[in-house]
Amino acid sequence: MSVAYDFTPETAAAEFLRKPHQLLIDGKRVPSSSGRTFKSLNPATEEVIATIAEGNEADVDRAVAAARRAFEGPWRTMRAAERGHLLLKWAELLKRHADEIVEIESLDGGKPVSATLRQDFPAAIDTLTYYAGWADKITGDVVPTRDDALTYTVREPVGVVAAIVPWNFPLMIGMWKLAPALACGCTIVMKPAELTSLSALRIGELALEAGIPPGVLNIVPGPGRVVGDALVNHPDVDKVTFTGSPGVGRGIMKGAAGNFKRVSLELGGKSANVIFDDANLEAAAKAAAAGIFFNAGQVCSAGSRVLVQEGAYDEVVERLAARAKSLRMGDLLDRNTSLGPVISEKQMKSILDYVDIGEREGASLVTGGERVGQRGYFISAAVFANVKHEMRISQEEIFGPVVSVIKFKDEADALRIANGTAYSLAAGVWSRDVVRAQRFAKRARAGTVWINTYGYTDVRLPWGGERDSGLGREHGTAAIQNFTEPKAVWVNLSA
Ligand code: NAD
Repeated sequence: MSVAYDFTPETAAAEFLRKPHQLLIDGKRVPSSSGRTFKSLNPATEEVIATIAEGNEADVDRAVAAARRAFEGPWRTMRAAERGHLLLKWAELLKRHADEIVEIESLDGGKPVSATLRQDFPAAIDTLTYYAGWADKITGDVVPTRDDALTYTVREPVGVVAAIVPWNFPLMIGMWKLAPALACGCTIVMKPAELTSLSALRIGELALEAGIPPGVLNIVPGPGRVVGDALVNHPDVDKVTFTGSPGVGRGIMKGAAGNFKRVSLELGGKSANVIFDDANLEAAAKAAAAGIFFNAGQVCSAGSRVLVQEGAYDEVVERLAARAKSLRMGDLLDRNTSLGPVISEKQMKSILDYVDIGEREGASLVTGGERVGQRGYFISAAVFANVKHEMRISQEEIFGPVVSVIKFKDEADALRIANGTAYSLAAGVWSRDVVRAQRFAKRARAGTVWINTYGYTDVRLPWGGERDSGLGREHGTAAIQNFTEPKAVWVNLSA
């Protein structure tokens, strides 16, 4: 979706950021029960931009109780069309506050405003309006069984949902969870990532303003090991929808076993973007650069491994390096900034460690891979050539602006390398031979395959992967199934 939003910085967002930020429980902004707070930084300047109430187990109890009351009360019993109308009203309010939300999201997550305007915000609105339309179209089937019975299915909302969200796309990924769950009639306790809680709190306030009843959407910021853990282990939570790292995802599956919660997990990736030597190399290199450097590489489906056939290898490395060098770092609110900082000092150190590891393993650092400036967590976009499939920089998710370029001989070799990690989220393939490209797409272990393009997502198509990339799918009809359960009804026609 492409929508032009006029963006005027330093307006309502500044006013919002100055406020003390509370938890949102049962329709009210409330302090945490411990009285503790934590700070959120702008990753481009390291300045504190907000102070936020830090939730704990007692706050999770309050939020889950509120969500349960709202589920049994107004939300599941409301006319389905009315739920849809409320979600559309919320979308309208979000659009009216576009400047403010885009600025909050950009400053809190270290995102250049040009990217937030182009991707995060429109995608969040598209997701919300798409699922608002679903609210009154979630149907069952009449299933023929016996002649003396009418048998049919209805889909019931699963109940109280815990939504646990990462920091790389807080608004967009948050909405991937909120919109379908709410459309299905579920109520929610959402835990944003500690590093990026602000947009969630603002859109939560606007949900109330739109008329979504108190308790339907509760937001409890705080540490994963406290708030996240309490949600995952809570006996009155019916489902956990999680996006984040494989390690935490594994713990969530174990925790959810207590009361057999439904679980869906969107985890990491080490996606291969495969370029055959008959491809349009200019287009392929341009998309490969965007595929890894967008959001400073902090994208689950980042094309962090670019596999290039022997004949095209040198040219693609050269083109990637030129594109890496052309990215502009700077003020997040300057529309010309194209490469933002990474999210935190910890993340910066981890990425710089991987650059060292790559050099020690014998890969050639063609460009980038250094901290830029002394304030803010900026890293210059890095291109590694002569990377071998077995190296750690080819196997492990770096989650930063670092690409490993790997040479391959033929289709079988490319497929072996592409499928040879613990992940299976996404893959790209570039070739003018459509048969080869589609054969590759069929054999790639990936939830999404892009042919002669890279990186598109659309809420109408399923999204997710298997193994270390997760469990289940989000988006489209898959999300409706995630947040509802079918119920079979028998009517005796001979009574
Ligand atoms: P993370 O797993 O550290 O944190 C994600 C969320 O889980 C945060 O809200 C965090 O507070 C919470 N959390 C942490 N410990 C927890 C616990 N013990 N119990 C419950 N919740 C807990 O991940 P991150 O560093 O925020 O995000 C980066 C990771 O997310 C990367 O691996 C990336 O690939 C993945 N990701 C995947 C997708 C996708 O769609 N597949 C999208 C974005 C990010």
